[in-house]
Amino acid sequence: MDPSLITELSAAQASTPAEPLCRYRIGVASAAGHLFDLCLCIGAGSPTPRRLSLPAWIPGSYLVRDFARHIVTIVAESDGAAVPLTKRDKHTWELGPTVGPVEVRYQVYAFDLSVRSAYLDPTRAYFNGSSLLLMLHGTENAPCALEMLRPSARSGVGDDWTVETTLTATTVDGAGFGRYAARDYWDAIDHPVQWAAHRGVGFAVGGVPHRVALSGRVEHCDLDRLAADLQPICEYQAGLFGALPIERYLFLVTAVGDGYGGLEHRDSCSLLCARDDLPAAGEREVSEGYRKLLGLCSHEYFHLWNVKRIAPAAFSPPNLAREVHTTLLWVFEGVTSYYDDLALVRSGRIPVQSYLELLARSVTRLLRTPGRRRQSLADASFDAWTKFYKADENAPNAIVSYYLKGSLVAWGLDAELRRHTCDAVSLDDLLRALWSRYGATGRGLADGDVEALAAELCGRDLRPFFDRCVYGTDELPIGDWCEAMGLGMHLRHAKDERDEGGALAALPGEAAPARPSLGVRTRRAADGVGLLNVFEGGAAQRAGLSAGDLIVAIGGIRATADNFAQLLSRVPAGDSVAIHAFRRDELLAFDVRPEAPPADTCDLWLLPAAAVTTTQLARRERWLGGH
Ligand code: ZN
Repeated sequence: MDPSLITELSAAQASTPAEPLCRYRIGVASAAGHLFDLCLCIGAGSPTPRRLSLPAWIPGSYLVRDFARHIVTIVAESDGAAVPLTKRDKHTWELGPTVGPVEVRYQVYAFDLSVRSAYLDPTRAYFNGSSLLLMLHGTENAPCALEMLRPSARSGVGDDWTVETTLTATTVDGAGFGRYAARDYWDAIDHPVQWAAHRGVGFAVGGVPHRVALSGRVEHCDLDRLAADLQPICEYQAGLFGALPIERYLFLVTAVGDGYGGLEHRDSCSLLCARDDLPAAGEREVSEGYRKLLGLCSHEYFHLWNVKRIAPAAFSPPNLAREVHTTLLWVFEGVTSYYDDLALVRSGRIPVQSYLELLARSVTRLLRTPGRRRQSLADASFDAWTKFYKADENAPNAIVSYYLKGSLVAWGLDAELRRHTCDAVSLDDLLRALWSRYGATGRGLADGDVEALAAELCGRDLRPFFDRCVYGTDELPIGDWCEAMGLGMHLRHAKDERDEGGALAALPGEAAPARPSLGVRTRRAADGVGLLNVFEGGAAQRAGLSAGDLIVAIGGIRATADNFAQLLSRVPAGDSVAIHAFRRDELLAFDVRPEAPPADTCDLWLLPAAAVTTTQLARRERWLGGH
């Protein structure tokens, strides 16, 4: 929202307990038509002029989404008479002059199957308040009420629906429909809500009730196993921070055929996962999909401290009308991405080899991002809105993920802190300090605060580290960090397209011969091989091929996804080959010289006891074992 419009209510208004100035009624207009029915009841005495807005973005997902475009009808009336509504900009309406109670009735189209917006069909209703709740300017910081209406029997939906949310219930029925209260508008939009036929399971962490509510076609899921795995992950994180600043927590999970995503909130998270990633009854091993799901849960849970409470000053509160820039997203997403997997191994959910595999793959993915030489981590954070969230075919050449590089830099910072302090200080200590000074006190984090705190804990100037790793684009000294942590690292050519490196039992032997490469990422197409990305400096780019081109022949032979690698391998080393490709509907010929691929695939292994010092060994054990 425009901060100039944010006016503190008088103490008298803010403390009126009985009838909040803003009361929302939320119902289903048409499940088949994906329409929510909403009414905002504005009490007498609210600030004038009365302006209403929907946010343009949702905290945690840094893209302007313009949620107000989904409002399909909106009218207002007072005492039975229509009140004029004038649209002021893409998401703001102004009510005609009134001072008494007003009802604003509107319908919102909701068919976004993601964790960021709202969704309604006969199987479920899901919403974030940022997609449905109009904010009355000037009342952001005042309490508000929400009434959730059970769909009518005539609608034919919702018979078996229950309400899942961490909003505070005031008067609700057995299924959870009824009245809820929010401290203020910011609170009202920070609790995702779902009405559906849920399967649920609970567990406690330090006496705090936690719940997993699952929707979708999930009859096969072993919910008890999921809870049994989540509990130690949550317990580990609560122990790491030394405080669990919540009264309850909800994992709101929707399973679909193919989906992945999560969004953090103060007391809950919304997760979208692939059905097959859920643990099936009778399964005991941790499949790759289940490991990914546990990592996602771990990630969003970690955010309850890191970003929801240890938060940038720029987000306290955020201006939801436009982009809010910060150079710190690497701290919030990168550090969280480091700990999400680390929490799995430290809580005993995955073995060390499995964790090393995840770490090695992160290194590989970074090395396959030429954009790491163009964009610093701080710039990646600042420009998330227009670059990371609007990634196009050139993104790998132009940008770097603040999640990916941020997680590796967090690991590097962990290694540096340990190394420089004879293992007296680690990244865990930095997080605890961030919690006690910022998260627990509500003080927002400014640019430079993390560096200053790290230097204070470490007792030395860490500017060279941050200049190189956060503000610069030089290669990360990953080999040094491996050595500090007692790991062996080896970089090699990829064996095939799916090879992302991994964990080894010991020093690798002879490498397989390198296969010629074009320096591209491809997609399978019905009539050839499509180019998704053409990497800077690679053979394809030098010959003039572009992302979007469809390769149809290599050396005069029709190319398919199945024979692509084989056709390239027939080209003698150092020779060039004719490649034919369509760009749009125009056939083009290219003279391409395939080359040995870069050694961009990382393997990691635990150095044997004979190859490490006792300091390295002890450090490695503390690193992988946690507090
Ligand atoms: Zn995150």
